[in-house]
Amino acid sequence: MQKIYINMKKTFLLLAITLFSAAFVSAQKKIINIPGISGYVTLKCDFHIHTVFSDGNVWPAYRVDEAWKDGLDVLAITDHLEYLPHKDYIPADHNAAFKIASQRAAERNLILIHSTEITRSMPPGHLNALFVEDAATIYDEDDYKTIENAAKQGAFIHWNHPGWKAQEPDGIPKLYDIHKKLLANGLINGIEFFNYNEYYPNILEWCEEYDLAVIANSDEHGIISENYGHTTRPMTLVFAKERTRESLKEAMFDSRTLAYFNNTLAGREDLLSKVFEASISISKPYYENDNYSWVEITNDSDVSFKMINGSEGVADGFTIAANAVTTLMIKKGSGKTFEWDVENMLTGYEEYLHVSIDF
Ligand code: ZN
Repeated sequence: MQKIYINMKKTFLLLAITLFSAAFVSAQKKIINIPGISGYVTLKCDFHIHTVFSDGNVWPAYRVDEAWKDGLDVLAITDHLEYLPHKDYIPADHNAAFKIASQRAAERNLILIHSTEITRSMPPGHLNALFVEDAATIYDEDDYKTIENAAKQGAFIHWNHPGWKAQEPDGIPKLYDIHKKLLANGLINGIEFFNYNEYYPNILEWCEEYDLAVIANSDEHGIISENYGHTTRPMTLVFAKERTRESLKEAMFDSRTLAYFNNTLAGREDLLSKVFEASISISKPYYENDNYSWVEITNDSDVSFKMINGSEGVADGFTIAANAVTTLMIKKGSGKTFEWDVENMLTGYEEYLHVSIDF
C-alpha cells in the first residue's frame, strides 16, 4: 500500500512538471522543403481564407495556428466584403478578423496580411485585395470603383477562381471587358491558378502577357486538416529578398511567384527552372561497365520531379523522388548532356518546363 502511494506521488509530480513546461512550448511547425533561388528566400503563402467574420466556420486565431502548423510563412484572411451570413450573431466588422489574428500571428512568427475579398457576380467575379489599410472603406456599389478603392490603399489585387463553375459554367476562365480595363489600368496584379481542388491552366498565358503573379490558395471555409490529410494545401511560393512584409509585397508586384499544389508547380519558366536547378545535385559517375555508367541524383526538395520525353541514351521517363537519391544509368557514347520535359512543372497550357542536364 505504501509503495503504491509513493508511485502516485511521483506521477503527480511528473504531471505537474509536464503541464508547467507545456506553457512554454507548442506543437511543431512543419518544414516545407522548397529551396531559395538566386539569393531570394522562398515564402510559402496562402492568400485566400475565410473565418466566422464572413462565411467561414472558424475563429481568426485558429487560422493562424493552422497556417503555422502547415509550415506557411504568410497568411491573408480574406473575408467577403459583401457576404456576411453570420451577421445576426457576429458583428459586421471588416477589419475584426485581422485585428484578432494579429496577436497570434506575432507569437507564431507568421506574416499576417490585412486583406478582404471583393465578391461580385461574373464579370468581374471575385477578387482579393491584399495589403489593405482599412477594409471598411473599400465597398462601393460599382464593381470597378470598389477595386479602385482597394488599389488606392496600395492593395495587390488578384482575381479568384476565374473558372469557378458557379460563375463560369464551362469552367474555362474568360477575359471580359471589365478585366481588360482593370488589366490596362494595373488593377489586376495576379490570378489564381489553383483554388481549393480546382485549377485553371489557361490563365498562364495571361499571366505571361500582362506580367501577373501566378497564385495558389486554399479558399478554405472549414478546417484545413479535414481537406488535406497527407498533402499540403494549395500555396503560393513568393521569392522575396527578405522574410518581411515589405519584401513580400515588392516580390508580388514583381510577379516573382509560383503556384504549388499536389506535387505540381506552375508559372514563369525562369523561376521554375531555378527551383529545379536548386533542388537537385548530380554526382560524378560512380560505377560503369562496358555499356553504361551510373550516377546519383539527389533531390533536396519536397517536389518529386516527373521527367518525360528523355533524350536518346537515358530513361525516357522516370521520377526524381522528393528528399531522396535516385540512380540513373547513362548509355555510353550517347553524350554528356541530356534533355527532358518536367511533367509537373507547367509553363503554359499543356506546356512543360524543358530541362537539359550535364552529367
Ligand atoms: Zn473566397
